[in-house]
Amino acid sequence: MEKYLVKPKNKINLSQIDPNDTSTFDGDKNSAKNKLKELNNKIARLQEILFAQNKHKLLVILQAMDTAGKDGVIKDVFEGVNPQGVKVANFKRPTEEELSHDYLWRVHKQTPGKGEIVIFNRSHYEDVLVVRVHNLASKEKWEKRYQHINEFEKLLTDEGTTIVKFFLHIDKHEQKERLQSRLDDTTKHWKFNLGDLKERELWDEYMKAYEDALNKTSTDFAPWYVIPSNKKWYRNLIVAEIIVDALTKMKLEYPKSEEDLSGVEIK
Ligand code: ATP
Ligand code: MG
Repeated sequence: MEKYLVKPKNKINLSQIDPNDTSTFDGDKNSAKNKLKELNNKIARLQEILFAQNKHKLLVILQAMDTAGKDGVIKDVFEGVNPQGVKVANFKRPTEEELSHDYLWRVHKQTPGKGEIVIFNRSHYEDVLVVRVHNLASKEKWEKRYQHINEFEKLLTDEGTTIVKFFLHIDKHEQKERLQSRLDDTTKHWKFNLGDLKERELWDEYMKAYEDALNKTSTDFAPWYVIPSNKKWYRNLIVAEIIVDALTKMKLEYPKSEEDLSGVEIK
């Protein structure tokens, strides 16, 4: 999965990363679906141990343009996981109260506790993305945030959180197709926001903001992955593999009972 990692010293250029890429998987769409099932099972098994052991914490950050599949990843990659141990935190436009604090205030309290997986559907990165593109804060302000974010994420990892960050990479043409299919299907109208069309007009500005964010905040302790996402099956597969890898590296173990259960007889 190294292929999609943003290496801290190698700056990436998003226009050179192909959103249609499926090169690390040999099989067809069907075999990818079977492989995903296996990975779903692995994630579910590892998550149970994570929960039982009550020691490690996993934070998954999802960022993407509209329609790129944040919701799809949450649904498809975490299928079968016990909902008790997994939480999704959505970061929408901040409330008055949130705006009256620093931008990390609302974020910090959603981070995972021991034994938990938390998925951020959007995140503190909005504060260097939408905020930058729409001038919601001065350049002087948002420019300092990359460093705040790196230090915040270092704090979290120093205190035992594993962080993996995904940018789901689609191209503007693919977004058009997906928006069009939402428009054509009345059962998908609930997903169609006219506001998304305004954001779409700012595509190039967003790509620039994403590129900067990815290059400035991919660190050894909290790496970014750019996931080719025009093909949903490939996007799911790669994200699932990276999550399995992150959980495996924790060397999770079921805890031993603190009591001596050896002679226990159930009458
Ligand atoms: P979906 O469209 O699939 O429901 P979504 O994540 O796009 O998911 P929306 O309610 O459409 O959800 O949009 C949330 C909006 O909130 C996004 O446009 C996002 O940029 C915006 N937002 C999130 N964080 C901030 C922030 N800190 N400042 C300003 N806007 C923000
Ligand atoms: Mg939206």
